[in-house]
Amino acid sequence: MKYCDTLVINGTTVAGEQGSQPVINPATEEVVASSPQASVSQLDQAVAAARDAFADWSRCDDQVRKDALLRIADRIEEHSDELARILVSEQGKPLMIAQREVAASVAWTRYTANLELKVDLVLDSPEKRIEVHRKPLGVVASITPWNWPLMILIWHIMPAIRTGNTVVCKPSEYTPFNALRLIEIIADELPAGVVNIVTGAGEIGQAISEHPGINKVVFTGSTRTGKQIMRAAAGNLKRLTLELGGNDAGIVLPDADLDSIAQPLFIAAFKNMGQTCAALKRLYVHEDMYDALCDKLVAVASKQKVGNGLDEGVTFGPVQNKAQYDYLNALLDDIRATGGRILCGGNSSLERGYFIDPTIVADVDQRSRIVQEEQFGPILPVIRYSNLDEALAMANDTDEGLAGSVWGKDMELASDIAHRMECGSTWINGHGDLHPAAPFGGCKQSGIGVEFGEEGLHEYTRTHTHHIVK
Ligand code: NAD
Repeated sequence: MKYCDTLVINGTTVAGEQGSQPVINPATEEVVASSPQASVSQLDQAVAAARDAFADWSRCDDQVRKDALLRIADRIEEHSDELARILVSEQGKPLMIAQREVAASVAWTRYTANLELKVDLVLDSPEKRIEVHRKPLGVVASITPWNWPLMILIWHIMPAIRTGNTVVCKPSEYTPFNALRLIEIIADELPAGVVNIVTGAGEIGQAISEHPGINKVVFTGSTRTGKQIMRAAAGNLKRLTLELGGNDAGIVLPDADLDSIAQPLFIAAFKNMGQTCAALKRLYVHEDMYDALCDKLVAVASKQKVGNGLDEGVTFGPVQNKAQYDYLNALLDDIRATGGRILCGGNSSLERGYFIDPTIVADVDQRSRIVQEEQFGPILPVIRYSNLDEALAMANDTDEGLAGSVWGKDMELASDIAHRMECGSTWINGHGDLHPAAPFGGCKQSGIGVEFGEEGLHEYTRTHTHHIVK
């Protein structure tokens, strides 16, 4: 397969001025290809191109932008297979999950194309009319992580373009190729400079966050990096949307039907090998059903086929990178040293690649590292509780507040518990399913702002209040 080795700046493909960096396939530990690296001067060129393009793009007819997004969705769909295979080779996820990621990217782009920015009429009296319009912000920079790299890029850039902004994006240095190819494909559908891509690691991210020519940064990634971006963005008071880490809790009520929830609980925790911001990362289970549910989760885990995502029948891939793999192994060592019981997984029989079999851990303490830290990988701690107030207190005992879930039959009780969880989204008998119409974002240190739907679209605009004296 050929991997795109050029940036797109002002509608033109260019080589990176900062050399290249190898990208590693996490299933084989072999080099996928070398990724171009952008210089800060190329970032300046991209921002200048985006600023120039903004003048026309922000003022063109709304239908032009809508049509462009619909054409872009068609183009992504035409390249589905290619994009999915790039995702598998650099990210590691099984092909079926990569195909779903591309399909969701297409659907999300179409949905965003059809969203409307309405004018709010706040007063219409015989003497006066007041309208609130929504105007684009200018140049929006997108900085993305490595877990759902294509999907998250789509979430960032489609609402930005739809509302008349222009874009400079920077993908994760671990998974640049899907983004480079995506932008190469879609740039043809947009005027030069509307969408630009630069690559590199934290230094280019830092330069973006500090750049005086950028009006907004939309960032998805760790809380630590989010704080650095917020500090760096203060120079010109950039608008920010920060989608950061989560340590999502799930609470299983004493009346839950274990046979029907075991499989969805497993998927909620191990989606994308647990490398999902709104994955279930801590599971609180009533003591009366604790052992029975642990057994059922182990049974689901044992059905997974772990391996290279391109191999037939594989359902479970590797951890995406060596640093994350080492971190997860340190967590496993800590579990072993502090008396946690690893019921399944904990290592892998595969000789190469960053594999950890799906791991269920019992008898861990609320204060243990695996409960307190966001593992972001295929290890689920199951924690015992004896009453619901205690479970809720443990669920809320974190600085993060992305999402949470309650599992059981009594819908009134489940709703009551869900409303008392301190997080941006909750589910009953599910966890982590997102919808393009439903705002998604975290509270506490899981982020600022929301994505999706009308509310998400507004984050790419400013208000313009228009007073008319009649
Ligand atoms: P990360 O913060 O290490 O990196 C994310 C991006 O930020 C990369 O492109 C990286 O190059 C860039 N970056 C690094 N240092 C920077 C700096 N100083 N300034 C600007 N940019 C910089 O995160 P990651 O390891 O790629 O992703 C995992 C984290 O992302 C997890 O914590 C996960 O929960 C979170 N995440 C959150 C959501 C959400 O919607 N809330 C979604 C996916 C992932």
